[in-house]
Amino acid sequence: DAARLSAELRRMSGSSYGRYKSLKGEWDFGDFTLSIDRVQSDPFAPPSRISVRVPAAVAAMPEHAWRSPVRRRATADYLVRRAYRVLKGARLRIDSGGQEVIERASGRIDRGDLLLRLGIELPGHGRRIDARGAESELCERLPAMVDALRWEELDQEDAVAFADTVEDTVALRAELPSRGLVAFVADGSVLPRYSGVSDRPMDGSAVVPFTAPETLRVTVKLPHRGEVSGLGIPEGITLIVGGGFHGKSTLLHALERGVYDHVPGDGRELVATRPDAVKIRAEEGRRVERTDVSAFVRNLPTGSDTGDFRSDNASGSTSQAANISESLEAGSTTLLVDEDTTATNLMIRDTRMQALVHGDREPLIPFVDLVRPLHRHHGVSTVLVMGGSGDYFDVADNVVMLDGYRPYDVTERARALAAERTDATYHAPAHRIVDQRSVNANARGRSKIKRRDMDVLTFGESDIDVRHLAQLVDPGQIVGVGLALRMLSEDGLLGDDRTVAEALDALDDRLAREGVNALGSGFAGDYALPRRFEIAAALNRLRTLRVRA
Ligand code: ADP
Ligand code: MG
Repeated sequence: DAARLSAELRRMSGSSYGRYKSLKGEWDFGDFTLSIDRVQSDPFAPPSRISVRVPAAVAAMPEHAWRSPVRRRATADYLVRRAYRVLKGARLRIDSGGQEVIERASGRIDRGDLLLRLGIELPGHGRRIDARGAESELCERLPAMVDALRWEELDQEDAVAFADTVEDTVALRAELPSRGLVAFVADGSVLPRYSGVSDRPMDGSAVVPFTAPETLRVTVKLPHRGEVSGLGIPEGITLIVGGGFHGKSTLLHALERGVYDHVPGDGRELVATRPDAVKIRAEEGRRVERTDVSAFVRNLPTGSDTGDFRSDNASGSTSQAANISESLEAGSTTLLVDEDTTATNLMIRDTRMQALVHGDREPLIPFVDLVRPLHRHHGVSTVLVMGGSGDYFDVADNVVMLDGYRPYDVTERARALAAERTDATYHAPAHRIVDQRSVNANARGRSKIKRRDMDVLTFGESDIDVRHLAQLVDPGQIVGVGLALRMLSEDGLLGDDRTVAEALDALDDRLAREGVNALGSGFAGDYALPRRFEIAAALNRLRTLRVRA
């Protein structure tokens, strides 16, 4: 068939570009099957889409590389990264990950068969077919790539070490609840990044590797690395303090990313956070649809009901309150908060301000009065960066000070400075039921799911602002969120009077059973697996969303 495709292409040489469409369908290359799924209509349109199935007998992966779901995801990720490197300079493209190892549609393993999805810019001379160019991509570079992915062609030790690393991180994360921890940061971890725009590790002599303070050091045993020691952040309220520029936000960012697994050499391979941890921030201007923020906001000057709060343009404090309520509604039990991105008036209120603005004039109940009841009565832990105010000394279970990028346990010293504080009461937000029809992926009759950079998810007629969702880390996840929203509405998961949380449970069940590709039926592009918290966050920011009375 490879010869048949070559011959076919040669026959098409110089014909009008549209004739490429006749190539659609399956081509048996012997070693693998090529499927030409979607053909672009002109050279300037988005790339055409193809898929490749390499049978187990050719891929020749040993069973240990793919038998467990964790190793299957890791090995597929490893192969996709290799394919990406092999295709450098080609017109063939494969979607591969950054520093995180996330299940994605471009590379999967099915009982030892390797399934790949790629894009290709089919070459043209103007609007005529460039047959030689197409032949070199499809009949030479593609088979060479498949060849390079065969197990005997790999650096096998490297491939196995990659899967071992991921398996260790997964084991570490699974260990957290039974140890009463919300996160773990191994000694020797490298947390700072190369730059604000590069997620690779910082290198050079300026890097201060992480070392846990003795009093908070715990040791865990991992399947491959054996015993590893590091900082265990206990459940409850943990405060991270320290002077400006001493590494507080860097530590918190590492914890945000610790819900994902990292590639070997990243520096954060052994940073693990509870999978339901959510970064909370203020997000002025976001839409809020009937969220219960009454635990944080009593009465607004507008007289609107804060138990059923709606706004097309939320303030810093009300947006942050909504972000907390919605994360808890979606099932989070760990909140990550950084003073750099919070609304100060929702975080603290000092005595002088209370004396000036008191009683009913201040609708906000500061988080400092709610963070303890959140943990005691609702089992929600908080890790909070706060260098600017000592108010949280009163409520913190543990205080870690960063000094020159080194953490110290200063809990006792902070406790000596703490004052009595009367907690407010926290009640869990009401569970909402969504009007399924208000979540519509179809713009003028056709499904439209697209992303713009890391900022915007276009979903049907709506643009959803996702730029502040710190734990959406991969471009493919943004598309994945759009596909998940489509599934929630079109497959009826939001129907049958299900609450938002119940709909997310149903979605999680399906993705656990069927894997990432369950999201993409009929969808030709690239996508990766998002978490339920980012799916919920996008749903909550959808400007057409309607919650049923
Ligand atoms: P803070 O939040 O305390 O003000 P940041 O976390 O923003 O501080 O860190 C300030 C700078 O220090 C950043 O440029 C960051 O990359 C760098 N940095 C953080 N941690 C380390 C480290 N362990 N080693 C070297 N540089 C670091
Ligand atoms: Mg900071």
